[in-house]
Amino acid sequence: MPLMVKKIEEGTVMDHISAGMGIKVLQIISAKYPIEKSAALIINVPSKKLGKKDIVKLEGVFVDEKTANRISLIAPNATMNIIRRGKVVDKHKVVLPKVLSDLLKCPNPRCITRFEHVHTTFFVEGGKLRCKHCERTFLPEEFE
Ligand SMILES: [Zn+2]
Repeated sequence: MPLMVKKIEEGTVMDHISAGMGIKVLQIISAKYPIEKSAALIINVPSKKLGKKDIVKLEGVFVDEKTANRISLIAPNATMNIIRRGKVVDKHKVVLPKVLSDLLKCPNPRCITRFEHVHTTFFVEGGKLRCKHCERTFLPEEFE
């Protein structure tokens, strides 16, 4: 019997997060949205598909697609459920786009985007990300 958490009335449930990544997903979301109502992080929930998974539930927060894109980097199997009046009104997998614009800081300390006010652009290639400006390639976990 999995640990039960009260149902969300209005908000977002991120499900099927790779085990261990729930805390990072919560960090990404809380960097963008102030969490003022209840939120739950449930870790190591048994999952048929993933073996184990993490779940994040947020009351009063509606995660946008850009944030979901960012989450897809660390939790590619995550599903996003938008809850209104206690019911799931939208459910879909997070998507990793081919290009990520203005979403990530380049991990290269010498990259021009760290010194000048230029928009960052990364190209997603085979699970790695290439910076348009310094041309360096990074793994998803190298980003803050
Ligand atoms: Zn760069």
